[in-house]
Amino acid sequence: MKIMNHHSYFNYKHGELFCEGVCISEVARRVGTPFYLYSYNSLMGNYRKLAHAFSKLSPLICYSLKANGNLTLSKILATEGAGADILSGGELYKALQAGFSPGKIVFAGPGKNEKEIEYALKENVFMLNVESASELKLIEKTAQRLNRKARVSLRLNPDVEVETHRYITTGKKENKFGISFSQAKKLYEKIAKSRIIKPVGVHIHIGSQITSPVPYIKALEKAGELFDSLKEKGLNLQYIDIGGGFGISYEKGKPPLDIEELAKKIYPLLKKREAKLIIEPGRFLVGPAGLLITRVLYKKRGGEKTFIIVDAGMNDLIRPSLYGAYHQIKKLKEPGKTKPSEVVDVVGPLCETGDFFALGRSLPETLEGEYLALMDAGAYSFSMSSVYNARPRPPEVLVKEDRWWIIRERETYQDLIRGEVIPDELFSSSRNSSDSSARTFPIVSPSQQGKKETGYKGFSQ
Ligand code: PLP
Repeated sequence: MKIMNHHSYFNYKHGELFCEGVCISEVARRVGTPFYLYSYNSLMGNYRKLAHAFSKLSPLICYSLKANGNLTLSKILATEGAGADILSGGELYKALQAGFSPGKIVFAGPGKNEKEIEYALKENVFMLNVESASELKLIEKTAQRLNRKARVSLRLNPDVEVETHRYITTGKKENKFGISFSQAKKLYEKIAKSRIIKPVGVHIHIGSQITSPVPYIKALEKAGELFDSLKEKGLNLQYIDIGGGFGISYEKGKPPLDIEELAKKIYPLLKKREAKLIIEPGRFLVGPAGLLITRVLYKKRGGEKTFIIVDAGMNDLIRPSLYGAYHQIKKLKEPGKTKPSEVVDVVGPLCETGDFFALGRSLPETLEGEYLALMDAGAYSFSMSSVYNARPRPPEVLVKEDRWWIIRERETYQDLIRGEVIPDELFSSSRNSSDSSARTFPIVSPSQQGKKETGYKGFSQ
């Protein structure tokens, strides 16, 4: 199979940036800005690259829905045979809607509530990755109540250093995630005696945007030792889940994680213990496959700076504001080779100083009305978006070859007030009058609210 390098699905042709065979400016003129744009073949290429790299281990690849839970993108991966890594009842619902088989769904997260646990057990997900002793107790109690068995792995905290932003390390002992090895041993002993809890394996997930295989190997060596000692004690463990976190290249000169190398290095560690592998990639699959397209509203020279004010904001892509993350910015119109470049701040329209995409960035000369692409915006962009400043969420568009579809509509102003209720009684002058009880606002359950006609065209629960 031919494996293309990343960004190769986004190229200049005839002076315009294309996604596969589609001129992105044309989509922009049709759907308006801002919007997210995904390349089908980039997504597919990333998935196949990963599957190919790990093929000798025949892993269960569980797409981490938190990176981007769009139903169409999820369905593309489900159709390719992927499973799903979920973190909430909502993600379980979406994963099932997208067609992931429950037998390939793994459920992690330090704060699963009883309803979510019940939902997962009823749907018969492959396993719950347990993050505390109390959670294990609740899972046992819930499974008993439902008269079901619960398959679990414990999420170990391997306490390894990872070179990434401190907000996205998860495998250090000061992080809230996972269980220490000493406690895990005790809990596995309990599990061994339980008639309800069935052990599946061990789980680690050490962080996100990791670009070196070293911390994976260190964590896996530690987890592997525990796996062996537990098996010696008679526990029927089969799987080692190494989580996700595979880093991508956001910046020229900063390479992604070499997944071929990672796969090669972990191979003997799994083979020698005949363990089956689970991986939970999110960013690696969808990150490079997506762009956020925005238009320059104003160019403003203030003090010593030039601001490019665009119509997308931190509510649409929060990574630069939250982590100081870097996204390449490209003009949809190909810049001429001789055009001067300028140093600018690319900022959004929100009322926050932290609302920026790039500070002090050298860009080719950019004019008002021009379109820009924020590259590698397929992961943790839409999924972390909000409607802060009452900004309806942008639509999502999928391109495949020379065709494209809106796969999520632009939200409307009506969507912004969906579910809000104004109690009539608050504003009636007859508060003390005898018929005040007649004005009591009826209590509307969340499910009924969801069904109220508000012009919302999305997926109903
Ligand atoms: N698995 C777990 C348990 C996670 O918490 C996350 C993300 O934080 C992932 C997988 C996916 O990470 P990434 O998108 O970096 O691959």
